[in-house]
Amino acid sequence: MIYLDNNATTRVAPEVVAAMEPYLNEFYGNPSSAHALGRQMKSGVERARKQVTELLGAADPSEIVFTSCGSESDNWAIRGVLEQNPEKKHIVTTLVEHEAVRNLCARLELQGYEVTWLEVNGKGELDLESLRAALRPDTALVSVMLANNETGVLFPIGEIGRIVRSNSKALFHVDGVQAVGKIPIDLSQLEVDLFALSGHKLHAPQGVGALYVRTGVELAPFIVGGSQESGRRGGTSAVPNIVALGAACELAGKPEGHELIRRLRDMLEDGILSQIANARLNGTPDRTKRLPNTSNISFEYVEGENILAHLNEAGISVSTGSACHSTTREASPTLRAMNVPYSAAQGSIRFSFGRYNTQGDVEQTLRLLPGIIEKLVKMSPYDKELRALYAARG
Ligand code: PLP
Repeated sequence: MIYLDNNATTRVAPEVVAAMEPYLNEFYGNPSSAHALGRQMKSGVERARKQVTELLGAADPSEIVFTSCGSESDNWAIRGVLEQNPEKKHIVTTLVEHEAVRNLCARLELQGYEVTWLEVNGKGELDLESLRAALRPDTALVSVMLANNETGVLFPIGEIGRIVRSNSKALFHVDGVQAVGKIPIDLSQLEVDLFALSGHKLHAPQGVGALYVRTGVELAPFIVGGSQESGRRGGTSAVPNIVALGAACELAGKPEGHELIRRLRDMLEDGILSQIANARLNGTPDRTKRLPNTSNISFEYVEGENILAHLNEAGISVSTGSACHSTTREASPTLRAMNVPYSAAQGSIRFSFGRYNTQGDVEQTLRLLPGIIEKLVKMSPYDKELRALYAARG
């Protein structure tokens, strides 16, 4: 099996399994309990908090609050700020956010909030002037992702944070779910108030996430309950998962493996674009402005679903756009926002690498994919357009 769908989720690292295993088989107890068993669990949670703090470059472990997933972290950040600032009814976000932000903001619009949806250009990049122009005295929050889950395009959150700070009193939330573990992050150098991450994107299990809440930022609780997480997030802590997230952050902070991921991605991307005539890259061609593990490529006039099915049969797992769209046939909102023509958006495939990919994975994919595309091209109802395309590109 060749797994090229690491932006959907990642395999749990053996080091992470080893770190969490004692908390499943050996240790037990509620981390809120005052007895020795409880304290043992609590110390696992606090070690993990330090590991997350270190990876993010946060100032203090008290700024990290554990949640159940990235979506919870995003929802909490946005709803928490709005509840805390009831007089402010304006939100600024982008058209290409993950559903966790986009669908929540759309829902808030129906509930009387005003949302400014920032557009992107054909390369998936934001226009920072339109961000500056969108800020108002009643803007409660700016919510922008660091890395796009479909294209890997990075938004300049350093610059965005400075614009938000110097032009408004709004808080700045960053959805960092796709970036954490893939690129270095140093929150001490950024004007970021809230930052969401999710364990399963960096080789921890599904079911754990975190929200960074900068010291001094007041945030209404999202899950109201007991005094867990210093009263900021109710619910008994999922200790094994939290320990796993900490171990995954420590692993991600080590330099080994990162360069290989970049090299494999580049090799696959170059191979596809040079060998397949109807392939076109979605997102900026400037690789310094994209995640090092992601390539989103459209195969014009063929159906992404068909490509996915053929690759799946050959033992290669990929996504069409975002995994969340795999049940709908609409082109993804991100590609639509980038004005990718429908004929190309429908045939988009996301290849995303992780720590367990090898050069053999890339070679096998490059061996099989051109034949699969050629076969689908022959079956395409748009064969006239395709023949012209192939002829034009030699
Ligand atoms: N934000 C981004 C950018 C994502 O890619 C995802 C998941 O794909 C999420 C948020 C949601 O994270 P989770 O699956 O942990 O809820």
